[in-house]
Amino acid sequence: MDFNLTQEQELLKETVRKFADSQIAPRIKDMMSKRRIPDEIKKGMADLGLLGMTIPEEYGGMGADALTTGIVAEEIGRADPTASIPVFFLVDNAWSFLISKYGTKELKESLLPKVTKGKNVVGIASTEPNYGSDLGSMTSRADSTKNGYALSGEKSFISLVRDIAETGGGYVTVLKTDPLKGTNGISLFFLPYVKEKMETTFIQEMGREGSSWGSFKFSGIEVGKENLIGEVNKGFRIVHEGFEFARGLIAMISCGAAIKSLENGADYMKTRKAFGKEIARNQGLQFDLATDVAKIEAARDASLKALWMYDLEQKGQRFSRFDVSKQIAIAKFTSTTWAFDAINDALQWQGAYGYSKDCPEEWALRGIRSFMLAEGSREIMKMIIARESLGKEYLR
Ligand SMILES: Cc1cc2nc3c(=O)[nH]c(=O)nc-3n(C[C@H](O)[C@H](O)[C@H](O)COP(=O)(O)OP(=O)(O)OC[C@H]3O[C@@H](n4cnc5c(N)ncnc54)[C@H](O)[C@@H]3O)c2cc1C
Repeated sequence: MDFNLTQEQELLKETVRKFADSQIAPRIKDMMSKRRIPDEIKKGMADLGLLGMTIPEEYGGMGADALTTGIVAEEIGRADPTASIPVFFLVDNAWSFLISKYGTKELKESLLPKVTKGKNVVGIASTEPNYGSDLGSMTSRADSTKNGYALSGEKSFISLVRDIAETGGGYVTVLKTDPLKGTNGISLFFLPYVKEKMETTFIQEMGREGSSWGSFKFSGIEVGKENLIGEVNKGFRIVHEGFEFARGLIAMISCGAAIKSLENGADYMKTRKAFGKEIARNQGLQFDLATDVAKIEAARDASLKALWMYDLEQKGQRFSRFDVSKQIAIAKFTSTTWAFDAINDALQWQGAYGYSKDCPEEWALRGIRSFMLAEGSREIMKMIIARESLGKEYLR
């Protein structure tokens, strides 16, 4: 097996690390107090080609694969422990990818070049007030009209609502086109943000201070047929390609954040003294550190493998969708759970300072916690792993 990155991937990783260290890390506190991602960071990401990375070159992207996007995600996760910039990066990338793969030519031409320049942002609107994990039961709908569709419903707990309202863009939106058919009656549409027709409520969240989160109601928003993503009633299968990409990116972000926290924790242990010696000399703390390092290394390997499999399956090679779903679920479950544990340990080693608002591990703990729910909960990841291990008849 070859664990090397290509020369281009090494170069990109190095470039992003430099950008993150010089442009992102020094601005985190400012971002937290102003509760928004500084425009210069978004612009810097666009200039480096990090927005809509997988979008083909003809629409202004770099046509990157999922693994390369994951390598960048890890660096961004390392740099922003609040998870705000990582969320912006992963949502925009994963869901613009789905449009570049399944969107109509008209939609791609009108939207994707703006995404790569940071002039439009793409979000995902799946969750509703009464249904999240259970996609088949959701009720928002797309009704066929003479020239296209009328989209109506309510979507809740949606990331990037303010970013999209301010910058422009919209959402890959999960809607019912045949309400009686459960998961076989779901289609995907690009729902553009329309201020006058979308009643938005902002929700304050536990972490991710630079991000934005909220719900919106929409009624009878008319869109043309070009806004349909993929075929009618085939949305359930297609949306999972987006979720899986997003989950793989979340896994890499979580590993990046955890690795940085473990470095911070180890540095602190080596300088802080108690009972006449550095606390790093206590085997109890050494064993905690060793356990976290081992788990994160294993989770990172699982995540890289998951994205590598994702890329091969996209090219129609070697792996089935189900193989990929399982490995992605393993990656997301292990990375998010173990990253949370590692960050929590790193916070603990830093004593009272660890619990203060000055400590990056305090921000990281609240930010990374979101990933046990967003883009598919921890329990749903376990259900996928169990389904592929036992057979789907055992999930009923
Ligand atoms: C920070 C954050 C950002 C988010 N951003 C977005 C976004 O941009 N777009 C979007 O569409 N959604 C978003 N979500 C919503 C997220 O996708 C949902 O929270 C998630 O899918 C779970 O849905 P739910 O919250 O409705 O929980 P439910 O589906 O109601 O589940 C409640 C609990 O029960 C568990 N559960 C459900 N079914 C089972 C089962 N069969 N067996 C065992 N346990 C089960 C779940 O894991 C969960 O712990 C976001 C959520 C968070 C926290």
